[in-house]
Amino acid sequence: MNKDLSNLREKLQALLLAQRDKSARGNVADYIPALAEVDPNLMGAAIATIDGDFVGVGDYQHAFSIQSISKVFGLVMAMNRVGDALWQRVNMEPSGQPFNSIIQLEWEKGIPRNPVINAGAILISDVLVSHYSASKLAFISFLRTIANDEDIHIDHDVFQSELAHGNRNAALAYLMKSFNNIEAEVPDVLEHYFTQCSVTMNCQQLAQSLLFLANKGVNPLNNTAVCTRKEAHRVNAILSTSGMYDQSGEFAFSVGLPAKSGVGGGIVAIVPNFGVICAWSPPLNSFGNSVVGMNFIAGLAEELGLSIY
Ligand code: GLN
Repeated sequence: MNKDLSNLREKLQALLLAQRDKSARGNVADYIPALAEVDPNLMGAAIATIDGDFVGVGDYQHAFSIQSISKVFGLVMAMNRVGDALWQRVNMEPSGQPFNSIIQLEWEKGIPRNPVINAGAILISDVLVSHYSASKLAFISFLRTIANDEDIHIDHDVFQSELAHGNRNAALAYLMKSFNNIEAEVPDVLEHYFTQCSVTMNCQQLAQSLLFLANKGVNPLNNTAVCTRKEAHRVNAILSTSGMYDQSGEFAFSVGLPAKSGVGGGIVAIVPNFGVICAWSPPLNSFGNSVVGMNFIAGLAEELGLSIY
């Protein structure tokens, strides 16, 4: 893909600098109390390309809570493990609801709308708990392998905070269990789910770990297949329609890239056949998406002509 990558560092720096005052327009997530302790003024961004180029600006090496970005990794692991059977238990449609909504789940008999809302990711956690003898270890090992970096860890304070304030997620899990769509014990499933949400990574690690989605399933850092081409296509399709929750339509309209956000303030955007962008700034808009992260990625996509549409 031909992009004008001259002065990429300067472009990234200028875009991030232009966001300096914008973070005040959002609020740091506090429904998980440990997340509210993060400095709202931190912000960083990085871009990694499948050709091996990398540029990071601002606080791009500062680790943050990946939260729902973990749903992408869990989904890939579950697809690798159970194949097409997965889609009997979870759908692939946008939900049109907030990420932690419970309303639709009863109407739809315990089948989550997609794997990147909370209900879907809890379902995926059940798949991982049921198919790995040590699913939390498998999850963190998977991240370290695809990021090519051992320095990726779980934030135990965030984990405890999520566990202590996880009633809504527990409700989603028990509701799915009542429809026989959860196999393992609910507390085990939730423990896995909160663990994967509590992983901390920085912009560089996130951008590099997801390069396989920009490269038809193959990690260009070591030329190893992480998933099949078809699976990479499917993950990108789901991220395009549902990765930014109930703002996915607006994100497609204004940016045009598969993307995933987390309430820790991170956003990753996949640019097929080119690379991955990661932007991070903790204050969120009402949809749970980083205010600065969205603006930054929109600006970069516009400047480099990255839209897939
Ligand atoms: N751990 C968070 C939760 O379950 C993840 C939500 C998010 O990042 N959107 O509520």
